[in-house]
Amino acid sequence: MKYISTRGNAPELSFEEAMLTGLARDGGLYVPEAIPTMSPEDIAALAGLSYEEAAFKVMRPFVGDAFTDEEFKVIIARAYAGFRHDARAPLVQLAPNHYLLELFHGPTLAFKDFAMQLIGQLFQFSLDRRDERVTIVGATSGDTGSAAIEAFRGLDNVDVFILFPHGRVSDIQRKQMTTPDDANVHALALDGDFDDCQAKLKDMFNDFEFRDGVKLAGVNSINWARVLAQVVYFFTSAVSLGAPHRKVSFTVPTGNFGDIFAGYIAKKMGLPIEKLVIATNQNDILHRTMESGAYTKDGVTPSISPSMDIQVSSNFERALFDAYGRDGGAVAQLMEELKDGSFTISQGAMETLRDHFSSGRASEAETLAVISEEFVSCGEVLCPHSAVGVKVGKENLSGTPMITLATAHPAKFPDAVEQAMGARPVLPPHMDDMMHREEHVTRVPNDLEHLETLIKERIAQR
Ligand SMILES: *Cc1c(COP(=O)(O)O)cnc(C)c1O
Repeated sequence: MKYISTRGNAPELSFEEAMLTGLARDGGLYVPEAIPTMSPEDIAALAGLSYEEAAFKVMRPFVGDAFTDEEFKVIIARAYAGFRHDARAPLVQLAPNHYLLELFHGPTLAFKDFAMQLIGQLFQFSLDRRDERVTIVGATSGDTGSAAIEAFRGLDNVDVFILFPHGRVSDIQRKQMTTPDDANVHALALDGDFDDCQAKLKDMFNDFEFRDGVKLAGVNSINWARVLAQVVYFFTSAVSLGAPHRKVSFTVPTGNFGDIFAGYIAKKMGLPIEKLVIATNQNDILHRTMESGAYTKDGVTPSISPSMDIQVSSNFERALFDAYGRDGGAVAQLMEELKDGSFTISQGAMETLRDHFSSGRASEAETLAVISEEFVSCGEVLCPHSAVGVKVGKENLSGTPMITLATAHPAKFPDAVEQAMGARPVLPPHMDDMMHREEHVTRVPNDLEHLETLIKERIAQR
């Protein structure tokens, strides 16, 4: 299996190389040259398997010969051993025909653990075998950072630097990033918003001297291995509701378009998905794009669902690549136009996108209202991101079962939940003392040279 760049101008890589690299050298994102498919019989055979067994069957064809079957099984088993639910991704029912896929039973209580725990094991295996070390730099709107730190802390051949927007993540998200005291973990609070963090990360990848010098690796949601890990729960949840014999729909709370793009891959692989619904908060660039065909940046307005406070939705580039008939030149041109703030999608490409995706948005007031309504109607306590999904999911109910993804545990966002329903959600017992642990964090300006120097110094000290 070969991986190619969405901008058509970077070397083809193997799965392992694409995973260790992250962003392509032409600024594009890696995608498989062709999407492997599963027959209805293959999909039906997932019924009754453990999450790990299903994960192996779904992901195996994408990995090629990077790992033997046995190695890959061990990697998967280790990745999900730390989850606190035997089903890993349990499905609960909210209402007739509406289901919630709980993706928050991993070590940092957000769905990011599904991909990051796997990537941690994959990196460790690959780097040990190649006797190499890497520097991971990640930008986070809150949950990626803690998931990455949890997955890579304590590893000898990895340094992990996480850039988060100063003052714009919840207390618990910040504590999860700043309280680990491993020498290879570096939490950096940047003066700016999430898009600034993401832009600085891209700049580092485009500075080839720095990139090669520190052996920069990216684990943001642009990393193909992360998208791949997320494909699995679309299959397991659909199969438990009767796929492939019955169609299902999904609503996905969306920021960087990684999670919903994984759903699109599941569909391309053969999973009978009727609708894939993009749910955004008030930062609704994706919803506006689906309505108007124009992708236009607007400022980020901080919301109660901070992990979706995004304007530049990186993985959307992968959907554009397919919608433009896999024309890397066309995608490169759109991204060039975006430097001035916007681009317009061709009519043909828009039709393809609308064939696969619908969209909706939830305001702050609607999000809060859904948290209290769902608590009253079925006893489920939703985090604000999941509530955005449930609001939009409800608007898209039909005869087909709707599965809305619950992306974080409510206790990660206690203030919003308390505001909505008057009671404060409690952290799981293993995190009880987190709020009292000492923090290790460095405040940094929104300046590339400053960041690169700091990273080089920290690595040299180890
Ligand atoms: C990251 C995140 C999202 C958005 O996921 P994308 O893959 O970036 O679209 C939604 N909810 C939570 C809790 C998250 O951490």
